[in-house]
Amino acid sequence: MRHVVICILTAMLSVALARTAHAEPKRVLVLHSYGQNFKPWRDYAVALRQEFERQSRWPIDVQDFSVVTARFDDKSVETQFVEYLGALFAHGAPDLIVAIGAPAALFVQQHRAGLFPSVPMVLTAVEERRVRQSALTDNDAVVAVKQDLPALFANILRLRPETKTVAVVIGDSPNERFWLSEFRREIEPTLSNVKMVFWNDKSFPDILKQAATLPPNSAIFWVQLQVDGTGAVHEGERALKHIHDVANAPIFSYDESFFGGETVGGPMTSAAKSGHKTAEVALRILGGEKPDDIKTPTLEYGPPRYDWRQLQRWNIPESRLPPDSEVEFRPPTAWAPYRWQISLIAAVILLQAALISILVHERRRRLLAEVQARQRSAELAHINRFTMAGELTASIAHELNQPLGAILTNAESAALMLKSDTPDLKELREIVEDIRRDDSRASEVIIRLRSLLKKAPFEQRDLDLNQVARETIEFLQPLATARDVELDPGIAAGALPIRGDRVQLQQVIMNLIVNAIDAISGAAGPKRRIGLRTARVGEFAEIGVCDNGPGILLDRFDKVFEPFFTTKPQGMGMGLAIARTIVEAHHGRIAAENKAEGGAVFRIILPLAAPGRGRS
Ligand code: ADP
Repeated sequence: MRHVVICILTAMLSVALARTAHAEPKRVLVLHSYGQNFKPWRDYAVALRQEFERQSRWPIDVQDFSVVTARFDDKSVETQFVEYLGALFAHGAPDLIVAIGAPAALFVQQHRAGLFPSVPMVLTAVEERRVRQSALTDNDAVVAVKQDLPALFANILRLRPETKTVAVVIGDSPNERFWLSEFRREIEPTLSNVKMVFWNDKSFPDILKQAATLPPNSAIFWVQLQVDGTGAVHEGERALKHIHDVANAPIFSYDESFFGGETVGGPMTSAAKSGHKTAEVALRILGGEKPDDIKTPTLEYGPPRYDWRQLQRWNIPESRLPPDSEVEFRPPTAWAPYRWQISLIAAVILLQAALISILVHERRRRLLAEVQARQRSAELAHINRFTMAGELTASIAHELNQPLGAILTNAESAALMLKSDTPDLKELREIVEDIRRDDSRASEVIIRLRSLLKKAPFEQRDLDLNQVARETIEFLQPLATARDVELDPGIAAGALPIRGDRVQLQQVIMNLIVNAIDAISGAAGPKRRIGLRTARVGEFAEIGVCDNGPGILLDRFDKVFEPFFTTKPQGMGMGLAIARTIVEAHHGRIAAENKAEGGAVFRIILPLAAPGRGRS
């Protein structure tokens, strides 16, 4: 493997060395129009040089000369210029001549015979009608561009249909005069409602004045201003910039070298495209191909391009632009420079939104589950009450039988008394009163039983815990009596205001008392007592149920609150589990412990309702 790599590297090195060894520089004589810095050709020359760099196999030795005579009519000195070039290259002719722009093209065609006739030549950046086809030799190649003057004017009227005047900026050198006549010939007759004015004979200050005071609905068409009406020469882009600074109308043009600041845009010729093509043609000739054989189609306008800043400045809506056009120099939106940051923030926000919606969904599910759990525990509590009621049946029956039996006995006594001729009305009244009292006792038992067994949803109300405790004791009193257990209520003075569900809290207390009765019933102590205490403890109401039974026979007291934990043969082990659920639904706590003197104590604390808080 290593051997193969070394072989490849050696081969690459030798190819590179061979190329440089054989790569003799090619000498290219470049002839500029007017001077090296005149637009638009300067941009064409720069593009050509860049393309040489990119495309050439050889080093290219570019030697620049300018056809300065293009500025004026007197061509008499051109012969000396040709001789000068001949003398310069006396030691060896260049490998190629490149003429950039129409004036240079005219010059080389004019002097072809004296200008290294055997050296191939490329005419570039020249409009096709500026090439004298008849004067082309088979040693010449052409990379021409085409100026479609009607299309350029159609562009102005498309963007500004209200245009009434088009001022054409053009100078007074021979090449500029040619184009002046072309505009007059090709465009002027086609415009019915638009007046054309030419500033070819004006001084530059006059041109600036005119540009600043054009009538409304005017446009300026910039061709070129190389030599103005007074003979002053304008190199580079200063003239266009000045006009742009003062002009009261938009400026249009035809070449991308004027695009990017002062002109609105439209269809245009491209220096980059021409430079690329010209370098390609030149290098093929330098490689040995015959110039005559290289036919290059005339370069035409690319898709129209517009400067967004100019469109804004002159209120030109984008809807007026041709469909295939491109708008450049738009101010970058926040998106362009901060694409990654914005994407990241958007992703984070989306992620957050997704998380939030998941959490909201989860929360809703949890609430639903809580409601369902509460319903289930209410149902379970209800079942538990039923079970308890079953256990209480005997005492309830006894509780009912007592008043009912008394009623019967009283009713029979009353009936006997009524049979006598002189019934004792006073006694009868007392008997009826007894009957009424016993009846209401019986109905009270039934009402309590019904309230215990009713299936009601969890309902928070303002309650007095003392009252709830009293009602529960009353309810369980018969059972306690039947089981020979003494209930010792120690209810705190005043009220213990809490918020809660009366039936469920009754159930909890009842559970504790019944458990205590069960625990004591098995014990063999002389006095079986269950104490019930209520009290305020800080912000809480407390209720405790204690017994003197055997206590909880476990190492962990909280085990008794686990579902299905029971030590009773018939037990379900749900009573205390439900009690804890109910107490916690009331934001309270329940705990169990054994007393030192024996027996168990269960304590519940519940938050006092707001008005009672803080009082103890
Ligand atoms: P169950 O009464 O059906 O057994 P509970 O949940 O009400 O179900 O009680 C669970 C267990 O807690 C009882 O079986 C018992 O062992 C114990 N326990 C409850 N109260 C007392 C108490 N006062 N003294 C001793 N143990 C008790």
